[in-house]
Amino acid sequence: MAGRRRGPFIAGNWKMNLGLHEARDLARKVVDAEPELRECTTVLIPPFTALETVRGTVAGSAVALGAQNLYWEDAGAFTGEVSAPMLRDAGCAYVLVGHSERRQLFGETDGTVNRKAKAALKAGLVPIVCVGEVLAERDAGRTLERIDEQLARGLESVSGQDLERVVVAYEPVWAIGTGRTASPGQAQEVQAHIRDRIRKSYGNGTADCAIILYGGSVKPANSYPLFKENDIDGFLVGGASLSGLSFLGIAREALRAYGEEK
Ligand code: PEP
Repeated sequence: MAGRRRGPFIAGNWKMNLGLHEARDLARKVVDAEPELRECTTVLIPPFTALETVRGTVAGSAVALGAQNLYWEDAGAFTGEVSAPMLRDAGCAYVLVGHSERRQLFGETDGTVNRKAKAALKAGLVPIVCVGEVLAERDAGRTLERIDEQLARGLESVSGQDLERVVVAYEPVWAIGTGRTASPGQAQEVQAHIRDRIRKSYGNGTADCAIILYGGSVKPANSYPLFKENDIDGFLVGGASLSGLSFLGIAREALRAYGEEK
């Protein structure tokens, strides 16, 4: 793994879970563990309703705040939507874009991913752009083709300078919330391909620094061998981010693998 000094980057997507008390308690557990997470970039991504509570809890720590979605217009008559400037105002540094649940359940397309990613960048947020194939695409041998489509359309006309602020998350849809994780080899194949695409479009410097996460049923027990792979810079964690024990366990395992690279 010579040459890699990226990561670990650990983001917890709480999805539509946790009331304010639970959100505060969980964020507090993560903040309390901060001294041992110093080398980690740690991001908590609560539902919109808990952003303010989590912001208050992580204030003054290195733990960052993210949102799960945004709309691409800055303001206006868009009932139910939240804009990038509003998320900045709420203390967010990151925002998820194109999570597979949004693609599958809420009609998100590569085109809307592109608009959202650009709106996030314009407002100074880091978009965590999610890509991943469904099982039928994997079974048909179309995984890399699908990833290429998602990257090409989702990041269309994003400049090289902006791309350096984008985090990409590879999340095979068949592994999300299913308990079925991609093997380290399966994940690495796609993650290396993503870095290669970035290299072809944006050059070596951008590709070598790009943060590419893996997501899909990550737990403490499988995070060490995944992080050992050269192109896995960290994790986007769903279910296991709802417990301090498992979320911090994943961070510790990634740090253990990272420490061994030195
Ligand atoms: C996710 O929601 O991004 C995710 C990876 O979920 P899980 O870890 O539960 O599979």
